[in-house]
Amino acid sequence: MSIPDISRAKSAELYEKAKTYFPGGVNSPVRAFKSVYGTPLFIDKGDGSHIWDADGNEFIDFCCSWGPLILGHNHPAVRNKVIEVMQKGMSFGAPTALENELAELILGNNKYIKKIRFVSSGTEAVMSAIRLARGYTKRDKILKFEGCYHGHTDALLVKAGSGLVTFGETSSAGIPKAFADETIVVALNDKDAVLKAFEDFKDQIAVVIIEPIPANNGLLLQTQDYLDFLRETCTQNGTMLLFDEVISGFRVGFEGAAAYYNIQPDIITYGKIIGGGLPVGAYGASAEVMDHISPVGSVYQAGTLSGNPVAMAAGIAQLSELLQPGFYEQLHAKTADFVKAIEAFVAERGYELRVFTIGSIFWFAFTDRESISTADDIDPASMLKFKVMHRELINRGIYLGPSGYEVGFISSAHTIADLETTKTAIFDSLDIVF
Ligand code: PLP
Repeated sequence: MSIPDISRAKSAELYEKAKTYFPGGVNSPVRAFKSVYGTPLFIDKGDGSHIWDADGNEFIDFCCSWGPLILGHNHPAVRNKVIEVMQKGMSFGAPTALENELAELILGNNKYIKKIRFVSSGTEAVMSAIRLARGYTKRDKILKFEGCYHGHTDALLVKAGSGLVTFGETSSAGIPKAFADETIVVALNDKDAVLKAFEDFKDQIAVVIIEPIPANNGLLLQTQDYLDFLRETCTQNGTMLLFDEVISGFRVGFEGAAAYYNIQPDIITYGKIIGGGLPVGAYGASAEVMDHISPVGSVYQAGTLSGNPVAMAAGIAQLSELLQPGFYEQLHAKTADFVKAIEAFVAERGYELRVFTIGSIFWFAFTDRESISTADDIDPASMLKFKVMHRELINRGIYLGPSGYEVGFISSAHTIADLETTKTAIFDSLDIVF
């Protein structure tokens, strides 16, 4: 049975004010709850797996700030380290030992990159990595995949997922045609399309960029064979392979998708988890490739707040926790059990729903397909079912990101009791959806 809507009076009041300050009342589009019911919830605080909104409603949170919070909210190790470092000042615009410390943690435990550069967001990481690939190969064109989101830089907002697809668009206005012309877009999981692009643009493609675990247009899992094919094709054509691991990095394992699929990309980008909830992005590659970046090489890239000590501190504290023995095994087992229980319920009821999952990522797909590996496989009409489910879950104290195209995340802070509560809420909500 449907239950009454929670009170959103304070959130609604804040939203009305916010709309006078910010376009759509938000500072990042998907937050506006445009494709789900009600006004956006304004969040007041978070602790572990729970968040509280401005009206005092409590939720078990599966958005986790869109992925960074793999330890949950306000983890004591992260909080204490941040407070300790903040006592000494916020930013110096000069190197600090903390940058070395975070780099050592990463490079010492990740065999896929040998040097790294810290920036302040995933977007910046990808933008810089693309420039590096172009500078290194002395080629201009890039190849991306339909539905993969790589942040909001001009060259990559073509057929991107995430907020664009949530709002029924696939590309952004304001991108000069000349820029978009340098971006070749092909469907995921289509070898012929890639081969044709390499034929049509022989010796012109600097880099193939892919989310090796595409998680911004639903969860479009690719096969090992397809990712191996991309590696081989890039090598044969003198093109760099860029794994955008802003979501998958440190999520499916400390070494991310590169290790999961055992593929050595030429460049990897990171974001989200690497900063423990503060703004950090990074890109890494071999020392030889990275030394093409300024001040050694001629590819320029800089940042006033790059390597910010407070952000580095959060990253150091969070990544140290991930290196504890058994961390990922426990997280993944918990997620697999959760997903299995939902799939069993759905199978018993005969509902048209699949829960696709990898590591601690999950995605509800209202479909009867065994797998979904391209953006085109998703029926936009199925999002209406997500909309109903989202409302029912919010009313039952479960917070999913406000878009059916976005994935959910489980953190180490989610307890078995949280997941039991969530399953019951999901079962009740699905009985209303169908
Ligand atoms: N790349 C991927 C795979 C992402 O998922 C995102 C953000 O969701 C980005 C890049 C951009 O990161 P940011 O939002 O930190 O700029």
